[in-house]
Amino acid sequence: MDEQHRAVTVPFLDLKRASHELDEELRVAVSRVVRSGRYVLGAEVETFEEAFASYVGTRHCVSVGNGLDALTLSLEAMGIGGGDEVIVPANTYIATWLAVTRTGAVPVAVEPDPASYNIGPRAAEAAISPRTAGILPVHLYGQPADMTAICELAQRHGLAVLEDAAQAHGARWEGRRAGSFGRAAAWSFYPTKNLGALGDAGAVTTDDDDLAERLRALRNYGSRVKYRHDMRGANSRLDEIQAAVLTVKLSVLDEWNSRRCRIAGLYDTALSGTDVDLPVVAAHAEPAWHIYAVRSVRRDALQAHLSMRGIETQVHYPIAPYQQGAYRDGGYVGGPFPISDMLHNQFLSLPIGPQVTEDEVEQVRAAILEFRGSGTPGASEDSVHAGDSTTSSG
Ligand SMILES: *Cc1c(COP(=O)(O)O)cnc(C)c1O
Repeated sequence: MDEQHRAVTVPFLDLKRASHELDEELRVAVSRVVRSGRYVLGAEVETFEEAFASYVGTRHCVSVGNGLDALTLSLEAMGIGGGDEVIVPANTYIATWLAVTRTGAVPVAVEPDPASYNIGPRAAEAAISPRTAGILPVHLYGQPADMTAICELAQRHGLAVLEDAAQAHGARWEGRRAGSFGRAAAWSFYPTKNLGALGDAGAVTTDDDDLAERLRALRNYGSRVKYRHDMRGANSRLDEIQAAVLTVKLSVLDEWNSRRCRIAGLYDTALSGTDVDLPVVAAHAEPAWHIYAVRSVRRDALQAHLSMRGIETQVHYPIAPYQQGAYRDGGYVGGPFPISDMLHNQFLSLPIGPQVTEDEVEQVRAAILEFRGSGTPGASEDSVHAGDSTTSSG
């Protein structure tokens, strides 16, 4: 049997298991919408927006069509566009950069802190220019960025902060929810996220009344009153089915996150003393464990080995934004990015999710131990260890 056809015994993330667990609640929610006759921006959307704002701890939640629109429309609502620069992490999903580019502003990329993998406040400060309008930290893998330092920096320089919280539903920094620190936070409810819809969905949370009001217009053709268009808005509305589904899933988010946290703890124990470098949780951080990424200098060989054992893994992300065709002609500021390059070459995401079992963790552990026994030297010998101060950027 060739590799592609080898049976998967430990899936990376099994969304069928998640939906199965909520089968009855989801059916009730969906058929309630079907019978209601209202399908876009109705009562279900309002209910979800209120519940999510209260969960995050902000005054407002404005739902939109997806995470990219949440980012783009937030920047637009803040008045960021042509001639502006926005500081972004070099290592993130490309959506963070594309949102800045779509407004006409320029992404200014900075190296991550090698311990947290998140944007380092010192590196961000060094990237500030007279054109800088905002900072866009990403809570990568569900590990909250150092929002205390970032907000302090932004305040000192008069910059807006937009959190990319697409991977951080439920994470906390100094006891406060991710998504409640910046002027606004952008969320994605793509099905694989910790809070995932059964399709595309997104939202912005904010305490800023004016910003929320502008976002409500921007998501609906720039319209505040039917058929009057004060702004060049988008069509990025949440539909009632996704809102009803999200309300159901929000009710189990904390419990499902604590299961993820337990799986992360099992991995920490099972894999300590192996060749792979484990994630480091910063003091004051409570991660949402969206992704459990280990690091190995023999990443590709390790991934192939796990695949042979039926264990599905992923790489987040195989190609950095600055190496994508989309930015081949430039369009960003910054670089070279040796830390980000190294991380992109070493990251491997292990299966994690609310429905992962202890037995599956055990299979992963056994396969990683077996890989170490396969005769090659220690994988972490040449790697930059988490917390290595020689490369610290923040
Ligand atoms: C998923 C994700 C997005 C984009 O969300 P979509 O809903 O897919 O548009 C943005 N930023 C990060 C960090 C993400 O993980």
